[in-house]
Amino acid sequence: MKLEGKSVFSGIAIGKCKVFGKKESLVKRNKVADTASEIKRFSQAKEQAKGQLALLYDKALREVGEANAMIFEVHQMMLDDLDYVESITNMISSQGINAEFAVATTGDNFAEMFAAMDDDYMRERAADVKDISNRVIGILQGDHSRGELGDEPVILLADDLAPSETVQLDKSKVLSFVTRHGSTNSHTAILARTMNIPALIGVDFPEEAEGKMAIVDGKKGLFILEPSQEELETYRELRRQEEHSARLLQELKGQENITKDGKTIQLYANIGGVGDVASVLANDAGGIGLFRSEFLYLESQDYPTEEQQFKAYRTVAENMAGKKVIIRTLDIGADKQVGYFNLDKEENPAMGYRAIRICLDRKDTFKTQLRAIYRASYYGNISIMFPMIISVDEVRRAKALCKEVEEELKCEGIPFSDVELGVMIETPAAAMISDLLAEEVDFFSVGTNDLTQYTLAIDRQNPKLDAIYDPHHEGVLRMLRMIIDNGHKGGCWVGICGELGADVTLTETFLQMGVDELSVSPSMILRVREQIRKSNASI
Ligand code: PEP
Ligand code: MG
Repeated sequence: MKLEGKSVFSGIAIGKCKVFGKKESLVKRNKVADTASEIKRFSQAKEQAKGQLALLYDKALREVGEANAMIFEVHQMMLDDLDYVESITNMISSQGINAEFAVATTGDNFAEMFAAMDDDYMRERAADVKDISNRVIGILQGDHSRGELGDEPVILLADDLAPSETVQLDKSKVLSFVTRHGSTNSHTAILARTMNIPALIGVDFPEEAEGKMAIVDGKKGLFILEPSQEELETYRELRRQEEHSARLLQELKGQENITKDGKTIQLYANIGGVGDVASVLANDAGGIGLFRSEFLYLESQDYPTEEQQFKAYRTVAENMAGKKVIIRTLDIGADKQVGYFNLDKEENPAMGYRAIRICLDRKDTFKTQLRAIYRASYYGNISIMFPMIISVDEVRRAKALCKEVEEELKCEGIPFSDVELGVMIETPAAAMISDLLAEEVDFFSVGTNDLTQYTLAIDRQNPKLDAIYDPHHEGVLRMLRMIIDNGHKGGCWVGICGELGADVTLTETFLQMGVDELSVSPSMILRVREQIRKSNASI
């Protein structure tokens, strides 16, 4: 069976499928005679679940930092919630029923209660209470392997994957991600690029795929379930060729990003969190050109504190050992919704209340982030850039807040270093006034994902429009030329951090436009370096 999907990262994977289960376990109501020992069975399962969560917390802490690990601590606390525990034990003792059924019923009741609440934050707890209940039920039913993938690496099939789920996975056991939903810009897509494994979205795979052999062709966007012998042989050969080119690319490590005619540019990596730094270093990136700081907020259950953010930024800065780390300030809203911000539902979220608009409105939240970044600047080479800018006034207001933070830290005797300030150019307005913006900042980083969306008036999240979402559109390329020229005239260096920066068919064009930096996913660094070394910067 051949199914088409949309590729979010190229490559070939061959292996058995594992359907990542959101399937609720079937729980039957049974009568029990000895309710005391049934309550004991529940308590033991609850303790075991807490043990699993503690291990997950440690794993997440190492891989993605404290703010993202918090969810597992919250789940441990929820398991000890008195109302929750009492409801379960009362049900067992008063109705004489099995622990599984009492946990499932209590989980459903509590989830319904949370879902009916006005507060967005509380509504989100509905999924958490179901999650912890399913964990306990799994243990009661003798399933100790929740979230674990077994020994053999697999092609992971899922409806969609939430960040809190991907963090649980043993990444060395995943050959490829294939999801029914999600978009090119989803967390799963970014994770796949960082892990350098093929990934497809929009594939309507059958549940019966579990355990069956499949091929993922990340180049053509194909998912082949139960391939023929001939298909298997063809793809095995293609995979061998891929591995060979990957080995050749490794030889580019330690080499300069220099064109045939002698121009050197910076080649940096895009990251979503602390856990991505290892692959930045492994792929020999010269720095981090885009740290999507909103992932700290997205994967957290509440506003990450100044201390939590400081630790994450400091860890990244220290691990990069003096190489540049550009932190993009909070870019939420639109497709990146964070429950505890309690944002109103909008008719047109991509053009709505988002990113710098929220930050300039909610100054306390913004200043907490800025303080954390400035404090971390002392431990490395940190720059800041502001997303979704449309006016000089916004940049001046953001800069004024940076100044306020500097003054506060000085008064408090907290050390910080010089921080370069830049703006993302990702709206046509910013492109058109890039001459004026260049007077205000040290650098530009072009966000081609949004610049394409707003220039072409095409929602980047809408799969129906994928075919005409064209970042090669002359309208986008002309703007790029203009941004680079205006930036240089105003004394700014100019980079590209959108996905287009990794498009090797345009590397030479970018160089000839005069681009100073490209920031791409870690797995694309060596491929782009190879292309730079084959290109001429002069026309
Ligand atoms: C962009 O818009 O090109 C960009 C890099 O930012 P994001 O994809 O996170 O919106
Ligand atoms: Mg953007």
